[in-house]
Amino acid sequence: LMSRVKDAGLVRTAGLIGGKWTEVASDKGTFDVLNPATGAVIATLPRMRADETRAAIAAAHSVLPQWRATPARERAAILRRWHDLILQHQSDIAALMTAECGKPTAEALAEIAGGAASVDWFAGEAVRVAGDVLEPPSRDRRMVVLKQPVGVVGAITPWNFPMSMITRKVAPALAAGCTVVLKPAELTPLTAIALAGLAERAGLPDGVLNLVLGDAAAIGHELVHSDTVRKIGFTGSTAVGKMLAAGAGAGVKRVSLELGGNAPVLVFEDADLELAARGIVASALRNAGQTCICANRVFVHTAVYDKLAEAVVGRVRKLKVGDGAEPGVHVGPLITPAALDKVTAHVHDAVAKGGKLLVGGGRPEAAQLAGGGGGGGGGAAAAAAGNFYLPTVIGEATIDMRCFKEETFGPLIPLFRFTSDEEAVLLANTTEYGLAAYFYTRDLGRAWRVAEELEFGMIGLNEVAITSEVAPFGGVKQSGLGREQSKYGIAEFMDIKYVCMGLG
Ligand code: ADP
Repeated sequence: LMSRVKDAGLVRTAGLIGGKWTEVASDKGTFDVLNPATGAVIATLPRMRADETRAAIAAAHSVLPQWRATPARERAAILRRWHDLILQHQSDIAALMTAECGKPTAEALAEIAGGAASVDWFAGEAVRVAGDVLEPPSRDRRMVVLKQPVGVVGAITPWNFPMSMITRKVAPALAAGCTVVLKPAELTPLTAIALAGLAERAGLPDGVLNLVLGDAAAIGHELVHSDTVRKIGFTGSTAVGKMLAAGAGAGVKRVSLELGGNAPVLVFEDADLELAARGIVASALRNAGQTCICANRVFVHTAVYDKLAEAVVGRVRKLKVGDGAEPGVHVGPLITPAALDKVTAHVHDAVAKGGKLLVGGGRPEAAQLAGGGGGGGGGAAAAAAGNFYLPTVIGEATIDMRCFKEETFGPLIPLFRFTSDEEAVLLANTTEYGLAAYFYTRDLGRAWRVAEELEFGMIGLNEVAITSEVAPFGGVKQSGLGREQSKYGIAEFMDIKYVCMGLG
């Protein structure tokens, strides 16, 4: 790995507290970062806990007055330099990201472009924060509204987007004038370390962005129960998000949560089936199915079901599975053996309940792995060591299956049938989640009706590539609270203060 990272300064085995790269005493323990394509240990990092978290919070708090008072233009200039440095080092960041998270290099580069775009976007937003002057109800008063940074922010991010889940929290927080304690996922800390190093090079003052790595529960507990931390931004599982929200609620701390999804795709009988098949495969298999907006359940009108199924299966058959660092790989490994077990269980459950296995349905043989098959004995070992699962399509899926009720978070595409618009919308909405939903139709009336009826925070109509720094990202129901990105994203990091002036 290190031979593929040109700028050795981006690779460290330390957290960042108050501008100091901090190793903890080795008797406090370490944790390993593994490459999910090979099982190899690629880094060993200090396991930080409550003490280091408290120190990071104190550092963030001590520089808050200075950072908050820095003119927005100057904060924006630092964010722009960070953006530029991220793009200059994108191939190094991609190498780290693919090594720790498994996603193919092309997807890593796309994530870096998107993450950098959100840094640039919030650099732009920093200078556009504006309050209000209100019309007073009587002539002896004047009323204004100020927008001020909430203060110290705790950001907790997941492994499936090791960079962009960080930038969409940290960039608006810094733009707003907040300081940050970031806890990246312990599965993918190397991307976060590289990003923090580049922020330092961009001229971000010491203590404005702190990085703590290690014991999630201990770090999370400190962040949530600290009186100094005023806001928690979290992306991750619904279970952890609910726990953090409950803790934050006890201290009346603000929270933004981006939790699980169970995204439906509806394919109506008038849909462009090739377009739909392409979108379904791209969405369901992005990051090997491990994104919270991946198509998880595909509902197809019975009149076009067979044709759509054939088109989806045809596309899936052409995909290459393998180490994301190999050229031409479409589907990388899953993040952990536990993730592999979940997909395996969902596929077995579906088949046991009458689902038809149309393609995939197990782990790849060595010969099915890109780069691993041709080269003799090494292939079988690679196939066994990596957390690979073949992209899988199940036909005749039904609502009693686990893949209907739960987020699979793996490369599984279950195809369900429907016969009316009402049934399709009801099936789609039958989930406690409400993050993203997609549908394919060319009928304008249906397009409006269905877009309005789907209980999700984001809708893709004839399109699955919906994520953008300009658009609000977030969910309804148990998928979360608040919105990231877009013109709405910075408000999450600002308090509204009303000032009433008597003219005496
Ligand atoms: P995922 O399924 O994406 O791994 P998690 O919710 O477990 O979802 O992880 C998302 C983030 O939450 C990671 O940074 C993880 O370390 C962190 N996390 C996990 N458990 C806790 C906890 N008890 N308190 C705070 N953060 C936690």
